[in-house]
Formats: sequence, structure tokens, C-alpha cells
Amino acid sequence: MKINNLDYYLVSDGLTWVDAGGPFGLVPRHLYEKYVVPDSQNRIPSALFSLVIRSQGKIILVDTGLGNKLDRKGQEYWKLDRSTGDLIENLERVGISAPDVDIVINTHLHSDHCGWNTRIENGELIPTFPNATYIFQRMEWADASQPNIRTKATYFKSNFETLIADGRVRMLHGDQEITQNVRCVATPGHTRGHQSVILSTDGWAGIFLGDLAGHSFHFHRTSWVAAYDIDPLQTIKTKQRWQRWAAQQNAYVFFQHDATKPIARLIEKDGRYSLAEVEGDQSVIVNSPIVKQIPE
Ligand SMILES: [Zn+2]
Repeated sequence: MKINNLDYYLVSDGLTWVDAGGPFGLVPRHLYEKYVVPDSQNRIPSALFSLVIRSQGKIILVDTGLGNKLDRKGQEYWKLDRSTGDLIENLERVGISAPDVDIVINTHLHSDHCGWNTRIENGELIPTFPNATYIFQRMEWADASQPNIRTKATYFKSNFETLIADGRVRMLHGDQEITQNVRCVATPGHTRGHQSVILSTDGWAGIFLGDLAGHSFHFHRTSWVAAYDIDPLQTIKTKQRWQRWAAQQNAYVFFQHDATKPIARLIEKDGRYSLAEVEGDQSVIVNSPIVKQIPE
């Protein structure tokens, strides 16, 4: 999708199925069933979208999916469906190969957001994007490198440690402009060092929320917070700030885990929020097993 001097695609690393208790947390089933009905094993689909942006001559990739370092147990846990390709194959479909990527931004370092940061070649961990600078928040790294009993199942050093040792990482302290059109903003709650990415160009704005609101219902329903969040009340506070912003800007909002509504706008009327369709949004979604359209 080209908007002024910005070009972007949502690119899929496949589809996973997760227990509904994860994304819905404390929300009772009779309420969330209006949004999505779980399968017979109480699972709902969870997409793995990354955002790839061309801005000021740079190719910027936001988040890198689950990657290919999962063992069989890991693949079964996620029930990973890559029938329409993985991130690297789907990047190729929009004409981008791994060495073309200049900047990788990780919203945070959970394993389904930074899996393709590295891969294994001849038994050695190497960067998947050999010419890229990797960007994440210093606080996220601090928490990821010292995981606790609750976070150790999702923070894997193999996704970031060698990159730091090789001097490929730029760590941020809060908000930071990356190009004239792309900006990282600190959005704590899901993790302390979580960040989101704002796109802007004359009269148009978009935001890739990461796990601040992985699914569209998380952004629509302010109090609906995923069970995974480290600080749910902070998530709500951060969401309120960006809900106001998104409604005022009429922004495109990207939901990276939402398999059926990965892009929407948030409308505010009389203090209540609703979601609105984005016209033509399907054309930017590359090869998801549920949303299968490939752009021209
Ligand atoms: Zn996460």
C-alpha cells in the first residue's frame, strides 16, 4: 500500500492457535464469543503479522514472528500453520529479501515477535537480516535477559544475545524518531519495555500496536487485557492514551495477532469507541492462511 512517500505491507509468518484464556484473560466467554468462537479445544486463531515499511530509502521491518528455531514441541504448542508461507517467503513476495532489510524494530522480545531475528546456519546462530540494525527498548532487553519464573518461557536469549554481542543492536530509552515518517513510542503494560510504531505522512497516520492490543477487540474494549500482560492496569492506561490519539487522527490501526481484522480505524462517539473497516485493507496483507489475498 502506497500513501504519499510511504509504502507498507503487513506480511505473515503464519497462523497459530492459542488457548482463548491467553488473549481474553478475565473476560467471560459469553462476552468474548460475540467476537470470536473458540474451537473444540478452546483455541482461537492468532496471526503473526509483521509490518514492512519503505521510508526515506530505508526498508524497516517491525517484528519478526516465530522464526524457524522452534523444535517439534514448540511447533505443536503453537499449532503453527505456514501453509501460505513464512515471513521470509512472504517478504520475497513483495520483492524484499533478507539482506535488503536496513532496520528491524522489535516491539518487545517475546518469542513470537523476534523469532526471525536470528537463525541457525552450520550449527551457529547468525542474524537473519545481515545488514540490519536491530532496535528495541533497553528496558525490554533488561527484562528479557533476566527473565523471571513467569517470563522465562517466552524470553529466549537466542533471539537477541548474539546481536548485542556483535554490536548490531541500538537500544532506545523511550520515544525515538527512526525516519521522518516512522517513530517508536514507549507503550508499557504488556511488558515494561514494550514499544509501538507510528507511521505518519501528510494527513495520514497509522500505528502498529504490537501486544499493547494484539487483537482488535483489545483496542475496542479498553478493559479487556490479555492474561500475558505483566501490568494490566498500566496496559489500560497506555491504551486509553493511544485510543484517544487513534480516534483523533482517524489512524489506521494494525493488530498483528488478529487473523480476521488486522487493520481497522477506531471511531469515538459520545465517549464510546467502535471499530470501522478500512477500505481496501485486504490488499496489504500478504499471504495469511485466513486472509489469503496477495497484493497486485
Ligand atoms: Zn508479547
